[in-house]
Amino acid sequence: MVIDLRSDTVTKPTPAMRDAMFQAEVGDDVFGEDPSVKKLEEKCARLLGMDVAVYCPSGTMTNQIGIKVLTQPYDEVICYQGAHIYKYEGGGLAGNSNVSVRLLKGDRGRISVEEIAPNINSSDSHYPNTSVVALENTVVREAGSYYTLSQIESVCTFAKSKGLRTHLDGARLFNALTETGDKPESIGKHFDTVSICLSKGLGAPVGSVLVCKKEHESKARRMRKVFGGGMRQAGYLAAAGIYALDHHIARLKEDHHRARTLGQAIAALPFVKSMMPVDTNIVIFELASPVTPDRFLGELSTHGVKALAFSATEIRMVTHLDFDDRMLERTIDTLKKLHF
Ligand SMILES: *Cc1c(COP(=O)(O)O)cnc(C)c1O
Repeated sequence: MVIDLRSDTVTKPTPAMRDAMFQAEVGDDVFGEDPSVKKLEEKCARLLGMDVAVYCPSGTMTNQIGIKVLTQPYDEVICYQGAHIYKYEGGGLAGNSNVSVRLLKGDRGRISVEEIAPNINSSDSHYPNTSVVALENTVVREAGSYYTLSQIESVCTFAKSKGLRTHLDGARLFNALTETGDKPESIGKHFDTVSICLSKGLGAPVGSVLVCKKEHESKARRMRKVFGGGMRQAGYLAAAGIYALDHHIARLKEDHHRARTLGQAIAALPFVKSMMPVDTNIVIFELASPVTPDRFLGELSTHGVKALAFSATEIRMVTHLDFDDRMLERTIDTLKKLHF
């Protein structure tokens, strides 16, 4: 049995989720006739306290559509310097939206009013037009750090007062809410567009949802078509998303608990130099020289455990639905046996 900790995207549908998929009522969603997709979209809009939602194949697509909807070419988007929309979407903001980015350092990726304020351009024609503040929650590059609701409130209230729009990359929003205890419907009112992923911690095989204000819906649906994300009998996949929202949110705390236990064990290993705080389900640590990620991962894989090289010195492990207590124990035993 291989233990795969590279990402929380590696999960496979549970038997009950497969059953829900198998039973799904479907139609052609490009004609707006798939009842399961509609049900998922309505559920997501209601859940986040927003008007509407648009089901898409990936979180990259929901982010790209969100920014496209909120910007004009030559605009500028303010975000954290390691943000997924900037760093891990293949340059999509440049290509799809023709916008530039203003990159902020943040406190472990969490950007604040103090940092945003001096980075809003004045309307001088020399400068790109600052039009959007984009937040990420949790912050994947910073080991799943998360915003409190009051931090979100202050950034978004300020952005609005400056005439800026707001996008949330909430790929792991439910992981953040698991820690803060805030309700999902407290999130929606702060943002114009919110992207949530069903295929990460929630365990659906495919799918993300762009939740947004009614005024942005038609452009979002148009852009989904343009980007090639109009799917036909997508209800089979949407049914997995509905199942995930109903059954897999409450259990995220188990992933966080296992990540913390794993983190504690890793911090004590002789070949580990440092570790980021484990706030949710992501563990990122730095290896002590001369141990390289290649050597570490090679050794680990001979024991049937997979992790991810996150930089020239760092390793990432992510806990998820298909990683249970038995696997946690085996992973920790394996790590303790490694010698370099
Ligand atoms: C995974 C992820 C996404 C979307 O990724 P897809 O693989 O395209 O679904 C977006 N933002 C963050 C922070 C992510 O971790």
